[in-house]
Amino acid sequence: MDREQARKRIEELRDILWENSRKYYVENAPTMSDFDYDHLMHELEDLENDFPEFRSPDSPTQKVGSDLERGFAQYPHRYPMLSLGNTYNIGEIEDFVRRAEKELGQASFTYSCELKFDGTAICLTYRNGRLFRALTRGDGVVGDDVTANVRRISNVPLRLSGSGWPDEFEIRGEILMPYESFDRLNQERLENEDPPFANPRNAASGSLKLIDPSEVAKRGLMCTLYHIPAQSIAFATHSEALDAAASWGLPVSDKRRIAHGIGEIEDYINYWDTERKFLPYATDGIVIKINELPYQSALGYTAKSPRWAVAFKFQAEEALTRLVSIDYQVGRTGAVTPVANLEPVQLAGTVVKRATLNNEDFMSMMDIRVGDWVKVIKGGEIIPKIIDVDLTRRPGDSVKPEFPSVCPDCGTPLVKDEDEAKRFCPNTDGCPTQIKGKLVHFLGRKAMNVIAGDATVDQMFNLGLVRTPADFYSLDMSKLLMLDGWKEKSARRFLDSLRASREVPFERVLFALGIRYVGETTAKEIARHFGDIDSIASASLEQLSEVKDVGDVIARSLYDYFRDDRHLSDINRLKEAGLRFSVEGKTVSSDALAGKTIVVSGNFSISRDDVKRLIESNGGKNASSVSSRTTYLLAGSKPGPEKVKKAGELGVRIISEAEFMDMIPSAGSVRAPEDDVEPTLF
Ligand code: NAD
Repeated sequence: MDREQARKRIEELRDILWENSRKYYVENAPTMSDFDYDHLMHELEDLENDFPEFRSPDSPTQKVGSDLERGFAQYPHRYPMLSLGNTYNIGEIEDFVRRAEKELGQASFTYSCELKFDGTAICLTYRNGRLFRALTRGDGVVGDDVTANVRRISNVPLRLSGSGWPDEFEIRGEILMPYESFDRLNQERLENEDPPFANPRNAASGSLKLIDPSEVAKRGLMCTLYHIPAQSIAFATHSEALDAAASWGLPVSDKRRIAHGIGEIEDYINYWDTERKFLPYATDGIVIKINELPYQSALGYTAKSPRWAVAFKFQAEEALTRLVSIDYQVGRTGAVTPVANLEPVQLAGTVVKRATLNNEDFMSMMDIRVGDWVKVIKGGEIIPKIIDVDLTRRPGDSVKPEFPSVCPDCGTPLVKDEDEAKRFCPNTDGCPTQIKGKLVHFLGRKAMNVIAGDATVDQMFNLGLVRTPADFYSLDMSKLLMLDGWKEKSARRFLDSLRASREVPFERVLFALGIRYVGETTAKEIARHFGDIDSIASASLEQLSEVKDVGDVIARSLYDYFRDDRHLSDINRLKEAGLRFSVEGKTVSSDALAGKTIVVSGNFSISRDDVKRLIESNGGKNASSVSSRTTYLLAGSKPGPEKVKKAGELGVRIISEAEFMDMIPSAGSVRAPEDDVEPTLF
């Protein structure tokens, strides 16, 4: 790889890793497996080692992923909260031991072997024997204050017992959601038509950030503690410090062992690789730490992790099971996806019965047959995946699946676009599944944000109450009470939510219409460009293609959509219902940024879309490139170097996220460690 290729790949990897880090830590909804994420992180580390000129303090290799969120008071950590170096390869654990032995010379030392608990990190401060504060890891330097919530976790003592605790000390660990609580919570969420959490880690971290502590109390969280920063205490070893913490009534794991060398470390790893499947909570590996505190200090830290500890991560669990049948599901856009029905199998703490098969090409590549034994994995992703077929166990009566040639729902012959791996049902406005999918999309959180789940829409459709989005606005109490299990309260909640949707800005209404290829960002560009729906409807293909990011395919899709009378009549009914169909109606919550044009670049503690929304709702204007008309370049971590350079050349002021938050109402600042003052809420 030459220098230029390396630079490009480094930038690409950093973008992918930051984006997925946000999904993981802030949204609690990862879309990539941990294994894939770690693999890309190691690729980036290797490239930065090979091409040190591209190293940057803002690289994800140098910073921990941030879980900071608006709505929480924030305090700095007394000592940074770091991550751990990790590997899936036992050879690298041997390297860790060899390096420690070499660096510590003749010294005699031991290793503390511990489970790697798969939850969300927490830092507790006890002052005069009472729980004083609980902070999340945040960005490693500053954490969100979740004290009120942690107080409601039953195994966290509010007061210490025993004796000998320092007047003030910090202790760190993990908040976990045991499998039993996780299954119960997801069951409840499904019944309430809320999306289930992907895994116990996401559920624990989402629950810890709930606004209402009494809700947290119901979630069945638990805490386990595994580290007292050496500066806080006077012990010779890490294990003595933890034993003392246990004697003060703090929840410390009894699964820790002291190892004297690589042999004993490997024994511990091998034992827990199997035994962990019987634990009531999730673990994703083993942590190995130098036990003697002076030697920990001697080895020190990198920017992101201690040199005296390493994590061995277990590969995502696999399970072998039989493929019973394949369903072909039609989505909102008409794409047909094959979904495998499996003989139920226990995998990573849950029972798996279904897994995705992606598309026809993927099925042919694996030569999969109904009746086959298949390998399934679940590693951070929401839907389990089939990754392999065990051909040695193929039964004689296995059946080669036939991908349907007609829509399994409405019988229309499927079409396959040349460059698409999927087959589609072209009966966009007549296929019941597509109609229902569009209705669900219309109500979705990023669209009209109306409280109703898929099952409700299904019922409404089956009862003939809704066929198009405009039908929702003709629903009244008497019609809603026809729905199974609906009482006045649920109906009123739905009607209130519908009423509120009339305030949704035009760009989201346009997205909600579900025009093929018109995603959230494209809808925004189109809404801004034309200003109102009538101008879009009457635009020519050429005019549509002038919009940023709109190519021939999207322009054609838009053009065709507005040539269909059924769509135009539905839009008219939505207009009559009072929805916003022009940008003039946009709501401004303050005019603090009136007249200011701002370019946003880099990563922030909230999503970039939210930052842009804040700019607009405070009267400012977003722009995509820096010019002489730009007022500020709002730079998060890792801003685009070209933008920074241009701003410097043109004398455009560069502001940080904190400065920006100070410019708009309800923004605050991080408190100093001297902490008895009430914190400011973000
Ligand atoms: P990590 O989870 O790999 O390891 C460090 C953490 O382990 C510590 O912060 C601590 O919270 C925890 N831990 C559990 N038991 C411990 C013990 N006994 N002693 C010390 N610490 C213990 O690192 P991270 O920085 O929290 O997260 C990075 C990891 O998160 C990545 O390696 C990746 O696997 C995952 N991730 C995944 C995605 C994704 O899209 N799937 C995105 C971002 C991060």
